[in-house]
Amino acid sequence: MSPPPVIAIDGPAASGKGTLARRLAAVYGFAHLDTGALYRAVGLLVLRAGGDPGDSGHALAAARALAPDHPVLADPALRGEDVAHAASQVAALNAVREALLDFQRSFAAHPPGGRGAVLDGRDIGTVVCPTAGAKLFVTAGVEVRADRRVKELRAAGLDAIVATVLEDMKARDERDSRRAVAPLRPAVDAFVLDTSALDADQAFATALVFIRSKIGPA
Ligand code: C5P
Repeated sequence: MSPPPVIAIDGPAASGKGTLARRLAAVYGFAHLDTGALYRAVGLLVLRAGGDPGDSGHALAAARALAPDHPVLADPALRGEDVAHAASQVAALNAVREALLDFQRSFAAHPPGGRGAVLDGRDIGTVVCPTAGAKLFVTAGVEVRADRRVKELRAAGLDAIVATVLEDMKARDERDSRRAVAPLRPAVDAFVLDTSALDADQAFATALVFIRSKIGPA
């Protein structure tokens, strides 16, 4: 029996990849894994334990404690910018990435529901699922992404200052792209989708044409 199809979606923060991943999963009836949530969960567990997210001992202990049913994965605090910062620190540690690989690969190989999987993150097409049937790299200009993040934060009732969010986003892009292990970059066989001038419906329509050409209709 052939393995279930996998759609790999990578890209920087607030590029629109999460929205796209959820919509693609819904139309194909595939299970969706937001892999950023795993790194955020590790960051949050370290912060709550009073540890240092840049310390591999602290971060590795948290990564090893993370099972698919861990309640931290549903914690609203995961979405905070402080947690995003901690996530990008733990994500630069090789031991943490190794510890989270099995979780991600077994989701792709045995997705809940069994029909297929959509994984979104930074290294899905390059490292986690290099043989994925369809790979998208979703990007947008950093100012556009910072504006989107500010709107999301304000919609969630949180205070957000554009200049601060922009600086944080640039710092996170830099750390994610420059790190030695699994840096953020498009896979050679990824379709690069720039959503700077597209709304969510336009981005979805463009992505769907590509995905259909790779894995067939939904
Ligand atoms: O996608 P999100 O913004 O939730 O990701 C939080 C952080 O987790 C990213 O800035 C990145 O450092 C890390 N990450 C990663 N690899 C992934 C997903 C997320 O390094 N596959």
